[in-house]
Amino acid sequence: MGLALAGELGWRGIPCLVVEKGDGTITQPRMDFVGVRTMEFCRRWDIVPWVESAGYNRDYPQDCVWLTSLTGYELGRERFPSPRQETNPPQSPQKRERCPQDFFDPVLARFARSFAHVTLRYNCELVGFEEHAGGVHAKLVDRLSDKEESVEASYVVGCDGGASAVREQLGIGMSGSPLLTYTTNAIFRYDGLERLHDKAPGYRFIFIGPEGTWATIVAINGRDRWRLSIVGDETRRTLTEADVRAAIVRAVGREFDFEVLSIMPWIRRQLVAERYGTGRVFIAGDAAHLTSPTGGFGMNTGIQDAVDLGWKLEASLAGWGGPRLLASYELERRPVGIRNVTEATGNLNRMLAPRVHRPPGEIFETGPAGDQARKVFGDHYTEMMRREWFTLGIHLGYFYEGSPIIVPDGTPAPEDDVSRYIQTSRPGSRAPHAWLGEDRSTLDLFGRGFVLLRFGANPPRADRLVQAAQRRGVPLSVVDIEHEAASRLYERCLVLVRPDGHTAWRGDREPESALGIIDTVRGAGTVSGG
Ligand SMILES: Cc1cc2nc3c(=O)[nH]c(=O)nc-3n(C[C@H](O)[C@H](O)[C@H](O)COP(=O)(O)OP(=O)(O)OC[C@H]3O[C@@H](n4cnc5c(N)ncnc54)[C@H](O)[C@@H]3O)c2cc1C
Repeated sequence: MGLALAGELGWRGIPCLVVEKGDGTITQPRMDFVGVRTMEFCRRWDIVPWVESAGYNRDYPQDCVWLTSLTGYELGRERFPSPRQETNPPQSPQKRERCPQDFFDPVLARFARSFAHVTLRYNCELVGFEEHAGGVHAKLVDRLSDKEESVEASYVVGCDGGASAVREQLGIGMSGSPLLTYTTNAIFRYDGLERLHDKAPGYRFIFIGPEGTWATIVAINGRDRWRLSIVGDETRRTLTEADVRAAIVRAVGREFDFEVLSIMPWIRRQLVAERYGTGRVFIAGDAAHLTSPTGGFGMNTGIQDAVDLGWKLEASLAGWGGPRLLASYELERRPVGIRNVTEATGNLNRMLAPRVHRPPGEIFETGPAGDQARKVFGDHYTEMMRREWFTLGIHLGYFYEGSPIIVPDGTPAPEDDVSRYIQTSRPGSRAPHAWLGEDRSTLDLFGRGFVLLRFGANPPRADRLVQAAQRRGVPLSVVDIEHEAASRLYERCLVLVRPDGHTAWRGDREPESALGIIDTVRGAGTVSGG
């Protein structure tokens, strides 16, 4: 998350320093699913081709499959095209991507490094900090020389993972479930796994035995590297390499000569920090929320944190951000964190449902009775699992209800549906995508400062808003759009969009209280209506 925030800040021209206590090597990739909203940010940062060419086999089909073993019985599958063949959802100029962490981290690091004012320091640990009125005094230790150093910063953001020392020093607790499962992941290498069995290729295989769901295998690079996950339960077990090898053989259903590259025991949790920071020190990413990976929301939620925080830090440093701006980070992002980790646990429970209602023994037997039992069981599982596979609403439909820097317009909140996502310009929502020209999206207008969109042939005047923004030093550009589809999507003649691409205010006439609106959206006001 530190790399994404550094990239976002670098892109905004803000000097920053990333300290990472490790050397940057990723021994075992965790995330591999880059959601559509994250790809929209990559589009803004102009790094989409870097993600696409990072190394995942983009011709590898992305089916999800449930089965007794790779050489056993297939119970069902949800078909998905390869990343190359997948089309964009109509609501976005981008599509989701597959890019495991050991490919994605270097992309983000390259992006962050492309700014001369961003410094990445590896083997450097933050060991403490003191917050004072004018900034933060941070203590670092260079892990190669063991030398202590100190730096003065205006702000510190702890993107330091689930065991966050920053969160700890701030005394912030977490609420939720500290233990869902003790899980063991192992990466193994085998070129040509598909030749060992008769099943069609897939990205994720979910293995169901007489005891219920017990493991998954995912195609981590779409070529020769695979990740086995022995899901486990609430009992801690220490698995040896022999246990892991036996599990791989059980999942594949036959002996073969593979190489175990790494084994990682980890605890699956559902936790969200009770606060997201103080005046000058914040937490983001896994430091703020820990989730079951079922759904692939963890990093994607963290990158949204980084984008929400990025422009607020810029505004505060530049002086146009008001005193309530940075506090809105927690108010906007924490509810999204809670929503996403909750959904992920629901996905876990659905995946593990066959542990509660054990599969009938016939599904493991040959013959017509077995075929019939497999069809009934498989169809039910396929239906139940669809909620995890179709999550456009989770990725694009989050909105900042009740945020003090959003001006509500009195319209009811849209339904927050996991898979169904209807674009809206309602204040607090992600501003809609519409194609304005070839490969030119409305989303391409957003990012740097505020943007006031004026729709139609004779749009209402906006002079008062422009003058109010100038008076407060708020960067604001006005863009006139005469485009029927975009006008329809945006629902109002005037729509004010924030630097992170969320609507801050909308109306059909210029507001009387233009200065009040500008003060509210920059975190300095008390206006609660437009
Ligand atoms: C099996 C698995 C699969 C997943 N799949 C997905 C997926 O498909 N999509 C998705 O969005 N998410 C996924 N996730 C979640 C995702 O991996 C995490 O949300 C994400 O990696 C969190 O990033 P982070 O930077 O916040 O934390 P981390 O990745 O934990 O990074 C924190 C960094 O801070 C450093 N650090 C800690 N303390 C200090 C200190 N004091 N000084 C300096 N450095 C310090 C650490 O060395 C570490 O490098 C998955 C997770 C798992 C376990």
